[in-house]
Amino acid sequence: MARRNKIYEGKAKIIYEGPESGTIVQYFKDDATAFNAQKKDVIEGKGVLNNRLCEYFMVGLNQIGVPTHFIKRLNMREQLCKSCEIVPLEVIVRNYAAGTMSKRLGLEEGTQLPRPIVEYCYKDDSLGDPLVSEEHIAAFGWASQQDMDDILSLALRVNDFLSGVMYGVGIKLIDFKIEIGRIYDGDYQRLIVADEISPDSCRLWDMETGQKLDKDVFRRDLGNLADAYTEVATRLGVMPKNSTPITKPTLIN
Ligand code: C5P
Repeated sequence: MARRNKIYEGKAKIIYEGPESGTIVQYFKDDATAFNAQKKDVIEGKGVLNNRLCEYFMVGLNQIGVPTHFIKRLNMREQLCKSCEIVPLEVIVRNYAAGTMSKRLGLEEGTQLPRPIVEYCYKDDSLGDPLVSEEHIAAFGWASQQDMDDILSLALRVNDFLSGVMYGVGIKLIDFKIEIGRIYDGDYQRLIVADEISPDSCRLWDMETGQKLDKDVFRRDLGNLADAYTEVATRLGVMPKNSTPITKPTLIN
């Protein structure tokens, strides 16, 4: 295969130019980082698992009419996506208190919230992605009021879809983060779900035991991250039920 032109390398993914204009290729690395890359490791097979899990979620969203940038998976680590301009916000949806919300508001982790709560962080690693309000977003022109209405609606639809899918396999969706892209069609612009959806960007707890099946396993040294992601993939049918915990990426076709 001809070498692809790299556009950008992030902490967990590399973005390459796609084969046609208006497309990019997302390559999922095995690198795991936490606390704004202060903690780092390489988890063999993580990129393969996230590529497959992300495909599973994005295909499902496209099928129920929630537009995403995902076009198709190309191979074990790469997926073809629509190229879009990323809105500089991390959109977080929370169903249960955990992580920074628990710290900020003194809520015990796992406390059910009265309704899903959507938060916005300004995407800037050098600032540690600070929490911002809609006032900041409007004043600094990061998104218009119409964009914010569309972003809220996309975020809540993704939440309903992911919560339902996870509920079906005995997993509680505590919270997740998505990113939003703009695509232009002449003068017309549309907002779509972009970047990735995977256990790197969600909190997933087993409904019975409360076992964590997401990146907190790495952040908090709770065990083997690839085993946790393999468990999610197996329950969702992304991996065969009788397969042993992932040691080599080739277990996934
Ligand atoms: O750390 P915090 O509690 O704010 O994270 C909320 C959710 O957003 C978690 O599921 C976390 O994995 C995700 N997140 C992310 N990328 C970030 C910050 C948070 O995927 N930079």
